[in-house]
Amino acid sequence: MKANIDLDVGSKTFASGLLPELIAALRRSHPGDLIAVVGAEKNIGTELETWCRFTGNALVESTVENDHGRWVFRHGTVPLESNRPVGSRLWLYTNFDCNLSCDYCCVRSSPSAPRRELGLARVKRIAREGAELRVKEIFVTGGEPFVLPDVGEILLACAAAAPTTVLTNGMLFAGRRIESLLALPRDRIVLQISLDSATPERHDLHRGAGTWMRTRQGIGRARAQGFRVRLAATVSSDREAEEFRRFLDEEQIAPEDRVIRRIALRGSATEGVALSRSDLVPEVTITAEGVYWHPVGAEDADLFVTRDIFPLAEAFAAVRRALEREGEHALKLARIFNCA
Ligand code: SF4
Repeated sequence: MKANIDLDVGSKTFASGLLPELIAALRRSHPGDLIAVVGAEKNIGTELETWCRFTGNALVESTVENDHGRWVFRHGTVPLESNRPVGSRLWLYTNFDCNLSCDYCCVRSSPSAPRRELGLARVKRIAREGAELRVKEIFVTGGEPFVLPDVGEILLACAAAAPTTVLTNGMLFAGRRIESLLALPRDRIVLQISLDSATPERHDLHRGAGTWMRTRQGIGRARAQGFRVRLAATVSSDREAEEFRRFLDEEQIAPEDRVIRRIALRGSATEGVALSRSDLVPEVTITAEGVYWHPVGAEDADLFVTRDIFPLAEAFAAVRRALEREGEHALKLARIFNCA
């Protein structure tokens, strides 16, 4: 990744003069600029990531080779493009276990991950209170929601409250699960199916041998049953994103049914885009453990907001308060950096 500023810090660490170099680089760069730190001390990566989180800069790439490391961070946070009010978009993590164990899963889902179920009773209450709070859209994710025997009832409850998108790997649309699918209202439910590449190699590399073909079959089944299908790819480079875009063009997929996102350095991922809380527009996310800031780190302590899901209005208020505190924190940092 090309940077605006290349900073060779030699063997400096945070204990031996790295911090003043970082601050000087921030002072001669602009918000949005990329700063590459090259150093002989490979262990600074972890501390650099912590420093980025605390200072509202985002570590976006890290490469460690034999005798040196290179870390690229962005000056400042991603511009907030969204004016979406907190709570208008609601995410539900229904279970956390999954039939797959993708190597970049942001919440470490897998067949052996313990099931942490939100449960139908809580989903029904969330849907009821969410409708009263005028939630505009609900996103249901698992791990893989279709491993749950009551996934149909869960999705019906959500769809009654707001248009609902269910995130799935599309591999379980058979037997009683296809029965659950068939009962769902086509005008209220969208299936967002993960497909990482136009051909099996890259998808299977991350998700397991044979998964691309089974997902393609699942997409076909869902479409044959009249569902709107959105294709979602997780990619690790601009080149992969561009390749997938060409594939979507060939398949004539409508713009609103395309999602291409980078691997996030969270959960099982060992590389990817490091996202700090200040990089993420809050999207209220509910799991069995409580309320989180954003779905991309729905088990990470830095994105945890409150254990109390109910009343839902209070959970939304807690996220709003956290957002206000985030703003105050950013202001405070700006003052710290301006004081010299
Ligand atoms: S990325 Fe999705 S399909 Fe893969 S393990 Fe995680 S939840 Fe399952």
